[in-house]
Amino acid sequence: MERPVPLLGDLSFRRTVHQGLFMKKAATPPDDVFQIRCPKLGHQIHFSYCRTENAGLPCSRTLQCWYGYFHVEEYLRRELTPEQWSEAFEKPVKPKILSLVELIEQAQKRGGTGEG
Ligand code: SF4
Repeated sequence: MERPVPLLGDLSFRRTVHQGLFMKKAATPPDDVFQIRCPKLGHQIHFSYCRTENAGLPCSRTLQCWYGYFHVEEYLRRELTPEQWSEAFEKPVKPKILSLVELIEQAQKRGGTGEG
């Protein structure tokens, strides 16, 4: 007995369904409406912030913080040059007090000094 040959459209449909059922995480970040709790700031934050937190480069903790939500490493390896990757993730971690000083300086630059 001859088996029917599936049409290309059928195969494509099955592949789409298969991907939809088994794909757990996407390789693109979620929209800014989706937020996680930032351990540095102590409040909810979206990925766009983390992506540029370090003077335009990703925060050094981005891989750990966003690992459970999408393929963050795959995404950032696509987005960053090897030099940017190294600068963001392979440099020694600064002491917390220096990070706080930098956050304060960045906030002052964004909002002015308050002196007028
Ligand atoms: S990646 Fe950095 S800025 Fe973003 S949530 Fe984690 S610690 Fe906070």
